[in-house]
Amino acid sequence: MKGKVYLVGGGPGDPELLTLKAAKILGRANIVLHDALVSREVLALAAAGAERIDVGKRCGTKLLTQEEINALMISYAKSHKVVVRLKGGDPLFFGRAGEEIAALREAGVEFEIVPGITAGFAAAAAARFSLTDRRVASQVLFTTIQRDSDNRSIQWAGISSNTTLVIYMPGTDYARVRQQLRDAGWPEDMPCAIVSHASAKDQAIRSTILAKLADEATLPAPAIMVVGRVVAEVAEEIGREFRIGVENAERTSRPMVI
Ligand code: SAH
Repeated sequence: MKGKVYLVGGGPGDPELLTLKAAKILGRANIVLHDALVSREVLALAAAGAERIDVGKRCGTKLLTQEEINALMISYAKSHKVVVRLKGGDPLFFGRAGEEIAALREAGVEFEIVPGITAGFAAAAAARFSLTDRRVASQVLFTTIQRDSDNRSIQWAGISSNTTLVIYMPGTDYARVRQQLRDAGWPEDMPCAIVSHASAKDQAIRSTILAKLADEATLPAPAIMVVGRVVAEVAEEIGREFRIGVENAERTSRPMVI
């Protein structure tokens, strides 16, 4: 084996939120296998001669299967020194890194993981609330919502409403999210925030309560939902500044002013 594979977090979008280490490795890259979520500005930091290969999804259609991506990483590591597997946010959050790590281990390829700022952190920073707060939230659950076709469901045992839920891939059916939370006993007045394109130029933020979640217009993907009492701290502020939402991009991308 000649090369090494770096599983790198590309952060939420804003290139300034990339780690120095990630930028340095990208600058030395021979091959960059990236997901669709990685921002153009971050990709631009790859070495001039680096070959960039989009292995992500487009409109829900996978360009390559996970097995093909694993095989690509392994074969490039045989012929190239610096192979970067670049993922949006943090590479270890909802990004199939477990399968890639297993494949690299099995093939005996040297690898290293470089963390990134996950979308949940970027969303909380954008909307300016704390994910934990000793007054109302003592724990955080990073999760995703159940769809028909899979069995990814929140395991509700032990999850009380002093938890902040950070819901990745909430989908476009907010009524469904509301239903699942209601079924699990979450109160109707629980505040929710939806953050689209966190940290990017077209960032948009909405806040509502569980009872009204289904009335919200769907924000463009990628979007993340945060549900919990911590959101209440800024709900009014978000409501005032971002009420117009996606209809008016200029308004929605404006920074919040208290
Ligand atoms: N590894 C990524 C998550 C990949 S799953 C991370 O750590 O952030 C893809 C989901 O992440 C999207 O459906 C969306 O829910 C969320 N996401 C990624 N980037 C985002 C962004 N800039 N703003 C809001 N949500 C984002």
